Amino acid sequence: MFEFLLPPRQHRKRRSSPRKASPPEELSLPGGALVFSLQRDHCRTLRLTVKPDGSVKVKAPARVALDDILRFVSARLDWIRKKQAFFLEHRGSAVNYRDGGTVLFLGRPFLLSLLPTKRRAQPRLVGNRLELPCRDDAPEHIEAACKAWRLSLAKLVLSRRLIRLDAEARAIFQDRASFSSLTVRSLKRRWGSCSVRGEITLAAQLIELPLPLIDYVLCHELCHLRHMNHGPAFHAALLRMLPDAREREKAVRIWSLEHPRA
Ligand SMILES: [Zn+2]
Repeated sequence: MFEFLLPPRQHRKRRSSPRKASPPEELSLPGGALVFSLQRDHCRTLRLTVKPDGSVKVKAPARVALDDILRFVSARLDWIRKKQAFFLEHRGSAVNYRDGGTVLFLGRPFLLSLLPTKRRAQPRLVGNRLELPCRDDAPEHIEAACKAWRLSLAKLVLSRRLIRLDAEARAIFQDRASFSSLTVRSLKRRWGSCSVRGEITLAAQLIELPLPLIDYVLCHELCHLRHMNHGPAFHAALLRMLPDAREREKAVRIWSLEHPRA
């Protein structure tokens, strides 16, 4: 968060000020240039904060007149806009299931854009947005719709990618090993697994990772068709498929830390 503080002397609190903070109220600058929340507090200074979601919060001592607060905020409008732009650009990639929130696809953040509609329609990726038709904008409904979209896309993309890498693996290892089935579902802890019968399970959340990291997970499971452990032969096989497997493995680990799964 970015904060802008006025020097304490200009807005000194009186002893009679209330000790408890009042609930925040919503205000806007003349002409509606900016909407912000104001909280009267027993603080000594006027304090302006731009939060990562772009919202603006002002804390003011009880005795400061409303006109002074509006002037204070107006004078810093350029600064506020700059910080909002910074946060928008560095929105990070935290998934956030709300209108204007973020969803990830192949390592790229997409802005979630709700399209209120009564008809059934499919979500679409348009430019840097995911357009999500919805009849109900309740947060749990949006989350369920986003996850359904993610799962259907993950099934499509991951199965195609796995078939391709499976063929590549057979060519590299000159064998006939192949997976017997693929299941894609939401997984909280693992990215994938491979059973002794060759059944591969992949996390639907994989679709959020950049393609080189997805390939790492897929190649890892395909190597388990040949070596059901993480011994030297398994790692040698993985390095034959992906010479930079170690770097990709590290990148997957970092991604997992930076992107808690939802
Ligand atoms: Zn493994």
